[in-house]
Amino acid sequence: KLSYQHRLGFGSGNPTGKIPLGLKRKGLRIVVTGGAGFVGSHLVDRLIARGDSVMVVDNFFTGRKENVMHHFGNPNFELIRHDVVEPLLLEVDQIYHLACPASPTNVVGTLNMLGLAKRVGARFLLTSTSEVYGDPLQHPQKETYWGNVNPIGVRSCYDEGKRTAETLTMDYHRGVGVEVRIARIFNTYGPRMCIDDGRVVSNFVAQALRKEPLTVYGDGKQTRSFQYVSDLVEGLMRLMEGEHVGPFNLGNPGEFTMLELAEVVQETIDPNAKIEFRQNTEDDPHKRKPDIERAKELLGWEPKVSLRKGLPLMVSDFRQRIFGDHKEGS
Ligand code: NAD
Ligand code: UDP
Ligand code: UDP
Repeated sequence: KLSYQHRLGFGSGNPTGKIPLGLKRKGLRIVVTGGAGFVGSHLVDRLIARGDSVMVVDNFFTGRKENVMHHFGNPNFELIRHDVVEPLLLEVDQIYHLACPASPTNVVGTLNMLGLAKRVGARFLLTSTSEVYGDPLQHPQKETYWGNVNPIGVRSCYDEGKRTAETLTMDYHRGVGVEVRIARIFNTYGPRMCIDDGRVVSNFVAQALRKEPLTVYGDGKQTRSFQYVSDLVEGLMRLMEGEHVGPFNLGNPGEFTMLELAEVVQETIDPNAKIEFRQNTEDDPHKRKPDIERAKELLGWEPKVSLRKGLPLMVSDFRQRIFGDHKEGS
């Protein structure tokens, strides 16, 4: 079995696995599962720009070829249509595991990618979620908080799936020495986000552009903290390259109620957009805000893009995708 250090050619004299400063390393071979999705495709852009060879593994369940099409023809880029629930044999240095069917098969996909990491000595990064904190009783949430998750609720499949994925990741780390990293991602938005998957930011933006009312669930006083995608990608790369396993919260501590978010969307797109209240879903977390002290201290990372700065960047992308090029309004 190869270790990650040997794989990168630094031998065991480099126990942290950190690439020594000043040493010009060769391009890495990196798998990004879910790389045709929203976050994955932005990560792929950065890795390709850095000079690495990137293999995207995606079954296009929610991802789109359009998100990575601009790399077609680049010899450093490969797109593999594959469901991570099935085993996969590749030779790679790093695995960013983003593919996440919102079903119990999430666990199987993670197991396979950990098996792959073990066989080839690759470093494995899991994109977990703030949902592992459930409806949190601690505010803001620190990584040491174990969470308040309903195991049999309507959202449990996603939350518990990610909690199990974290468990598997730590078991492969402790049990067979796989180098692992765990990110707990808080609500993230930006260009290429799915238009119709029901997330609040994509809903509000699409609704405002289409001159439909913004649908606020419940009383709209529940809070979330919204992170722009470039900040997340920077955090994921620092985590992968750094020497700490985590888990690390990656999120923007700027906290908004859904009504405040609706106001920002009105200011950005259409001050006359109406608000319509709808019944909330069951088990909706009341508040969520990351404590990011650990990432600040150990990764030297913090978000740079505020909601008011980031939202317009997403709006121009949505405008184009909804109305086509150069057409404004209906
Ligand atoms: P996304 O749906 O855009 O991307 C997921 C990608 O995985 C898609 O391209 C999809 O086609 C692919 N995929 C799904 N099941 C697959 C399978 N079985 N085999 C191969 N590919 C498969 O979602 P995203 O927002 O980019 O999320 C990326 C990761 O970050 C996910 O693991 C998600 O749980 C995590 N995350 C995201 C957020 C957020 O706010 N965006 C928050 C917390 C955690
Ligand atoms: N696996 C994979 N690619 C590999 C190595 C393993 O997809 O390169 C899968 C394998 O099919 C198995 C899972 O990863 O289902 C776990 O592998 P591991 O070797 O840890 O477990 P074992 O096969 O010994 O149960
Ligand atoms: N929400 C809303 N209107 C919508 C979609 C969602 O008010 O059209 C609320 C939802 O009830 C939740 C919050 O927005 O309180 C965030 O929902 P999302 O699904 O985006 O993220 P998550 O709940 O997974 O953090």
